[in-house]
Amino acid sequence: MKYVDEYRDHAVAQKLIAEIKRVVTRPWVLMEVCGGQTHSIVKYGLDYLLPHEVELVHGPGCPVCVTPLDMIDRAHAIARHPGVIFCSFGDMLRVPGSNGDLFHVKAEGGDVRIVYSPLDCLRIASANPGKKVVFFAIGFETTAPANAMAVWQARAQNIRNFSVLVSHVIVPPSITGILQSPYNRVQGFLGPGHVCAIMGYREYEPISARYKVPIVITGFEPLDLLEGTLMAIRQLEQGRAEVENQYARAVEQVGNVAAQKMIERVFSIADRSWRGIGIIPKSGYKLNYEFRDYDAERIFEVANIQSKEPAVCISGQVLKGLKKPPDCPAFGKECNPQTPLGATMVSAEGACAAYYNYGRHLVAVDSLQAKA
Ligand code: SF4
Repeated sequence: MKYVDEYRDHAVAQKLIAEIKRVVTRPWVLMEVCGGQTHSIVKYGLDYLLPHEVELVHGPGCPVCVTPLDMIDRAHAIARHPGVIFCSFGDMLRVPGSNGDLFHVKAEGGDVRIVYSPLDCLRIASANPGKKVVFFAIGFETTAPANAMAVWQARAQNIRNFSVLVSHVIVPPSITGILQSPYNRVQGFLGPGHVCAIMGYREYEPISARYKVPIVITGFEPLDLLEGTLMAIRQLEQGRAEVENQYARAVEQVGNVAAQKMIERVFSIADRSWRGIGIIPKSGYKLNYEFRDYDAERIFEVANIQSKEPAVCISGQVLKGLKKPPDCPAFGKECNPQTPLGATMVSAEGACAAYYNYGRHLVAVDSLQAKA
């Protein structure tokens, strides 16, 4: 398939790995920011192919993972309301809250529907004037423009029975938070390709300069990830700290200006809670005051719902690159994709789920048994 197969070429991969081996002279820790990148790294075993000096740790860029448990519980509370049609992308339906998931809510009679675009909700709202239609607006900067467009269009079309439950987070403050931690091990980043397709990469330049870390905006195929790794290692070995763009076929420095404008019209920056991490200042979006009538959290008065994460879960440390899934005693045992206990097992893009889905729980269990 064009634009896919050429980025999975075995011979080119071998050349990139050989070049990384030639260039590297000492240990380095790199973090891939996106869950999609983690998924590719584990799926193709790229971390096993790299020289032992290069360690990849997994970052916070999995949107389903970082949606806080209390926000999931708020979504379920709204979806249980009689007269509500609760709409979501499919990946949120099986994310467990404190009492089951959205499939359970649906089985108990809730009107829960999967949509492929938030704009679908406007059609549903127009067709069901006696109902309140709510869309679960989660994700990073990547999904924010379409969610903003849905709210903008709802107002333009005077659709009054539509609202959004907003749990949007943004990447740069999470990178800054990781770098400011006294426990930080990360020396360079494979930056978020999809997010930068929307936002560009100018906002990463001051972070790279201030903390003296290379940030290489990187794609999602194996050759993207290997080339991004090579570019970051070259910078580290040469004592450089710059923002470079490996994913030039999708990302420009300024990003998608029209999408950015749509975000700015509807959303403003706000403090946000990240599942497993906690509140990061100015790390997400909230609806602008002029769109308060489309704010489901306000309409259904669910903002006071607070929930507690299972104590055993170390997903916060996994999302900050401090631990890896096999370091968790629950990994592959009481925590698995069927019964996830924490943030990074609930989504296929989460690091724990990626490790489990590609069989690394078998290695982890083997090594635990060998130690016993
Ligand atoms: S394996 Fe489960 S309990 Fe352990 S860190 Fe991952 S999500 Fe949390």
